[in-house]
Amino acid sequence: MSTDIEALARANVRALTPYMSARRLGGNGDVWLNANEYPLPVPFTLSQQTLNRYPECQPGEVIERYAAYAGVMPEQVLVSRGADEGIELLMRAFCEPGKDAILFCPPTYGMYSVSAETIGIEYRTVAALPDWQLNLPAIAEQLDGVKVVYMCSPNNPTGNLIKQEDIRTLLAMTAGKALVVADEAYIEFCPQATLAGWLQEFPHLVILRTLSKAFALAGLRCGFTLANKPVIDLLMKVIAPYPLATPVADVAAQALSDDGIALMRQHVAELNDNRAWLMAQLPQLAVTEQVFPSETNYILVRFTHSATIFKSLWDQGIILRDQNKNPGLAGCLRISIGTRTECERLIAALQALCVE
Ligand SMILES: *Cc1c(COP(=O)(O)O)cnc(C)c1O
Repeated sequence: MSTDIEALARANVRALTPYMSARRLGGNGDVWLNANEYPLPVPFTLSQQTLNRYPECQPGEVIERYAAYAGVMPEQVLVSRGADEGIELLMRAFCEPGKDAILFCPPTYGMYSVSAETIGIEYRTVAALPDWQLNLPAIAEQLDGVKVVYMCSPNNPTGNLIKQEDIRTLLAMTAGKALVVADEAYIEFCPQATLAGWLQEFPHLVILRTLSKAFALAGLRCGFTLANKPVIDLLMKVIAPYPLATPVADVAAQALSDDGIALMRQHVAELNDNRAWLMAQLPQLAVTEQVFPSETNYILVRFTHSATIFKSLWDQGIILRDQNKNPGLAGCLRISIGTRTECERLIAALQALCVE
């Protein structure tokens, strides 16, 4: 029976390997350092008692507050069910299945390929250089038929920023042909690096943002696409009629109030402190081979015997993200920055592994 149903499905969906989110991978932990979440809940109360009504498609207060926060015009902001929905809306609006392609540079975020496969769009990859910057000559050779280039800066999972002069070159080589999408999911940890100020200069630049990371609201599912009005208008054609539930818009507006933004900045300062502490501790461990610099709330580390370390920590309830299968990342684990107590537990557990 089930095989008959399987045969009815689209071929690309039958072939699809779904995104293995940290949640799907499971684990029985009490120290969750695998999804780049903020480690503690933020308290919000719901103020809207209008659940009998459909929500606004693009809640005005959320749009206005995000625009003010990001330093752009409200007409340059689209709000969606996480940045992940933004990734997919761009493909649905700009890429013809079976004809157009997207391009990205591994190792990077996993959803670009998953969305492309789901929709049936070809994806091309151009491996990042050994220092994880863009391989611009190789990208130039692959651009034929590409409509959207996804570029994550700071990059997940490597933690580095992409050089701004390289992004300018990429924007020059794609002008009039393709969109360049800068995924700024972690930009609050290095706010000076945002490309938001470039929107007036580049009609084909798009920026993705989220409340899931620095704003501590991964469970809310709320993200933003920043772009010039012609791009936003096209995305508005393909977005669902009610993409944001009323409670989501309610909490998002509070998170983007002056107090909400101040709280976020305080959290970022704490996490940056904890990251500096971890950065000082990790190189002292015998199991550590290489600690990569990070502009984000996670650190990529290459360990000796990373599989053993991953499993041993997992069994102790400390859950990291294994990056072994990502191109160029053999032996690497990604560690989200938790509370100071969580960072200390991690280091203590790693120290214990060193003496075994
Ligand atoms: C977490 C993450 C996202 C997804 O954000 P959501 O708003 O939770 O969908 C997008 N891009 C990158 C690089 C991420 O790490």
